[in-house]
Amino acid sequence: MNVYDSDKIALGLDPLGYRLTDSPDKADMIIVNTCAIREKAVQKVFSYLGRVAGLKQTRPDLIIGVGGCVAQQEGERILKRAPYVDLVFGTHAIGRLPSLLSRIEKRRQQVVDVEMGSRIQEPDGAVVPRGETEVSRFVTIMHGCDNFCTYCVVPYVRGRESSRQPEHILAEIQDLVDNGVREVTLLGQNVNSYGKKEGLPDFTSLLEKINDINGLKRVRFTTSHPQDLSENLIGAFGRLDKLCHHIHLPVQSGADPILKRMNRNYTSTQYLDKIEQLRRVCPDMAITSDIIVGFPGETKRDFAATVALIKTVGYDGLFTFKYSDRPNAPATQFSDKVAEHDKDQRLQTVLELQEAITLAKNRALVGQTQEVLVESYRLKPASGSGGIGSGQWTGRTSTNKIVHMPAGEAAPGQAGDIDPGLLIPILIKKAFAHSLWGLPDGSGARTVSGPKGESSHAA
Ligand code: SAH
Ligand code: SF4
Repeated sequence: MNVYDSDKIALGLDPLGYRLTDSPDKADMIIVNTCAIREKAVQKVFSYLGRVAGLKQTRPDLIIGVGGCVAQQEGERILKRAPYVDLVFGTHAIGRLPSLLSRIEKRRQQVVDVEMGSRIQEPDGAVVPRGETEVSRFVTIMHGCDNFCTYCVVPYVRGRESSRQPEHILAEIQDLVDNGVREVTLLGQNVNSYGKKEGLPDFTSLLEKINDINGLKRVRFTTSHPQDLSENLIGAFGRLDKLCHHIHLPVQSGADPILKRMNRNYTSTQYLDKIEQLRRVCPDMAITSDIIVGFPGETKRDFAATVALIKTVGYDGLFTFKYSDRPNAPATQFSDKVAEHDKDQRLQTVLELQEAITLAKNRALVGQTQEVLVESYRLKPASGSGGIGSGQWTGRTSTNKIVHMPAGEAAPGQAGDIDPGLLIPILIKKAFAHSLWGLPDGSGARTVSGPKGESSHAA
């Protein structure tokens, strides 16, 4: 979501003459777009700000801005901790950036804007891809959240749930597709409740319209709240040809008393029932989840229930977090906090368990042909990534698994050529914990060429 917001920030600043640079040393303005979801993310913001403070000493005209959720949460307090910051703007202020900046540029005064309206105004339209090879992009379809899970800061820093108009979303995706994008991931804290408040057509009908966009090859979405995962949406996985066979369905815990204290509104049995329905419609569906270990009051028995649920589902991947207190979140006031070393141990247990499950799932794909959307080319594969040779293409399966393919000796334009944005059948030859390795299937080619005539040897 922050990647998307950063794009919108860049889009809003473009008419003022600002262009993106990769180098802080060259920048006239540095905007730090922040995340407040866990304590660690907030710590990172202040350590990064400490690093850019030095640049301001040598270049006093440099503007330093802090946006996003930490800006929303901390407001003026950011200026106290980091007095060299010029601008603090909250999650609803992206559309007001031009006027905030003109105040800074004209009067060199510090500006704080953390006003939250009921509707977010931000620059319309898509930020067109920066490089030729940007195949996959995020598109936010709704802002905020009304669920109030007791551990979560999102409703306080992002505000109440509001959905974007379908015509704006569709126009934005069309614009992206016209600029070479082939896959979009729709973003929302709970996409299943898209449009409900506003009386708009529901999420499944939005997906149907997106599925009809010519030139778009794949659609993904995240996140779905298990409480609102409808039969209609589950059925869409069987109906819509562009909808990828992957769902991120965060369970958080496998213990019912903990789910209740988290205010998640489902039991582990109801959750498992949804998983069963999904697999009935789409047997090869990849399922991933978020897990919080060490939520206040989580006993050894509760944790064992989480471990059991992870084994029962057999996730394709997990994002696992140690619980941390967040400002305003009710769980911060809960007693019986779990000791840090217990949280560490539980985290380790889940990480090791999942690593083994992921590897087994990946190994089961060896010998199968998977349709891969090619995303990028790298000249030197990172060691241990499974790449062989000096160049490789990378793409993903519909189930969101990363696949590396060697770039070989064939000249560009010959059969077996690969290009970003192509969907190609790949025969999976090797499996690792975090990626797969394969060769184009059917062409008989052992090697394929890299971009613009680069060539390399494949084993
Ligand atoms: N809207 C999404 C989650 C967004 S936050 C959903 O409901 O599924 C992403 C993840 O961060 C959450 O799923 C949760 O696992 C984790 N998280 C949120 N607050 C946290 C906290 N206080 N401590 C640890 N992890 C947290
Ligand atoms: Fe946070 Fe719960 Fe909303 Fe997700 S659904 S953003 S976890 S409050």
